Amino acid sequence: MVTGSSGSRRSPRSKRTAVSVLRVGHRPGRDPRLTTHLALAARALGAERMLLHPPDPALAARVAAVGDGWGGRFEVVGTPDWRRAVRAFDGPVVHLTMYGLPLAAVRPRLARAARILVVVGGAKVPADLYRLANYNVAVGHQPHSEVAALAVFLTQLLGIPGPAPWPGAKRAIVPRARGKRVIPGRGKK
Ligand code: SAM
Repeated sequence: MVTGSSGSRRSPRSKRTAVSVLRVGHRPGRDPRLTTHLALAARALGAERMLLHPPDPALAARVAAVGDGWGGRFEVVGTPDWRRAVRAFDGPVVHLTMYGLPLAAVRPRLARAARILVVVGGAKVPADLYRLANYNVAVGHQPHSEVAALAVFLTQLLGIPGPAPWPGAKRAIVPRARGKRVIPGRGKK
């Protein structure tokens, strides 16, 4: 069973929702850049892991290398059977699709969950995903991209992380109006 790491259900005012992302319809070798960007956006905007169907160990290793430098505990987990992962998930399953309910209408309920699984598709979305999901949620009702949909969804639910070094980071950014400043990270995982 895939769960978040923040323990059992809790009151709306305690810890924030732990988010896992499931990417279905990845085509290893055909669109590694798009799925890598999806994983990096998920990581940077506060998700805990990305389940990847079908598995792609090379992509998982590339994303792990980013975490090695910039810290945090995000991981890409190869998922041979995505339907099984959806059925086994211990919390609401949210499928992002332009055909769904507006995000603003569903967000308050999602923010109360201890953990959620957010599913994004690729070029072709399996039809049964609409039924397996607890919520079909739209980020606007026009077609765009899984990276854009996930980024907006995560920032609406979790906000945007600040510049503090992440646990275990070897480096961190000091925000500047001009130029770049990177300092060694001091955090411990
Ligand atoms: N043709 C696909 C379909 O039948 O849904 C859409 C593919 S779209 C390029 C890839 C993914 O982006 C979708 O599966 C969905 O997860 C996400 N997406 C695109 N537009 C969206 C929107 N307006 N709201 C929520 N998610 C969206």
